Amino acid sequence: MPLRRPACYRALGIPMLHSRSKIITYSSSWTFVPTHYCRNTCGYCAFVERTGERAQLVSINEARKEIERARSAGATELLVMSGEGVEESRPVRDRLRREGFTNYIDYLVAVARIALEHDILPHINIGNVNEDELRELRQVVPSMGMMLETVDDKLRRTPAHLRAPDKEPARRLATLRAAGAARVPWTTGLLVGIGETETSRAETIKTIVQIHQQFGHIQEVIIQPFTPHAKTLMENAAPPRFEELRDCVAMARALLPDEVTVQIPPNIAPRFLELIEAGATDLGGVSSDGDRINPEERWLAPRSYAASLMKRGYALQSRLAIYDDWIANDWMSSETLEAVARVRRRLPQIIAASPSSEKEVYV
Ligand code: SF4
Repeated sequence: MPLRRPACYRALGIPMLHSRSKIITYSSSWTFVPTHYCRNTCGYCAFVERTGERAQLVSINEARKEIERARSAGATELLVMSGEGVEESRPVRDRLRREGFTNYIDYLVAVARIALEHDILPHINIGNVNEDELRELRQVVPSMGMMLETVDDKLRRTPAHLRAPDKEPARRLATLRAAGAARVPWTTGLLVGIGETETSRAETIKTIVQIHQQFGHIQEVIIQPFTPHAKTLMENAAPPRFEELRDCVAMARALLPDEVTVQIPPNIAPRFLELIEAGATDLGGVSSDGDRINPEERWLAPRSYAASLMKRGYALQSRLAIYDDWIANDWMSSETLEAVARVRRRLPQIIAASPSSEKEVYV
């Protein structure tokens, strides 16, 4: 299990920020998508593109420019996000070769290093990865993630996952375990409303608890509502009822150990204040460049969330991509540990709220 207040953390002079009571956290994030290519077709996904410009791989030069923009916008986290099996794409392989990389992981290591040079912490979510890849990435990446979504095998026969072999629960559980074995602080979560049942939601959370008990690496669990998108297989499916989402948040909080944070995305989750009251304590990455999975759902400015939270007696605080409890030698490389100390020093702390800013969109 992770150490609380590790000695090396104190030695770096980094203050502890978290107190679970009335503090709600978020990460000041910027999303970088190396490619929209993915070999799967999930029934709800509006992200995947297999042809055209967005299915290409972004060059390292362009990645550097994007990271400079992130730094100018004040981001402390670079969420690097792509789909599965990107090396199956010929254009992606050609770009990797032209840029001198032997594979996609090498490319991601280079992107992560550029982020660290700019005092931004990379957080990588590229779907399933194996233990060797994780060991390479953890040298320059302090935390990573992958949504488990569900352990319900029946969804593989429904539009949600019928054409998505990488969503096989056993495969995703293997990735969660590999992350634990490689000692990578990890974010995972549930996608609510894609055809699973309340019972299977409970099973999914209990499975995450079991894996965390074995490895101690799960730092947060996202409870994410399904959102229908035009031109997807599930465009006419209904999103989950608010009560289902709220009950799932409450169940996650009740079943997960204290050190694992429950996160909800306030741009797509309805009535986010009620979800906070149900047990969520984190708003996830809030990004001024918009949500790349749900582009129509922009975030509000952090001070707008702070204003709403203040009315219920909560304070909003920014956090790092890696949670405090995992900032320790045995969870991080020396390179990422030093970067965390640098980034922490420029992290804004309690976010000032102004009631007049309550509906201010984050741009
Ligand atoms: S695996 Fe991810 S990127 Fe690929 S189709 Fe599914 S949701 Fe979209």
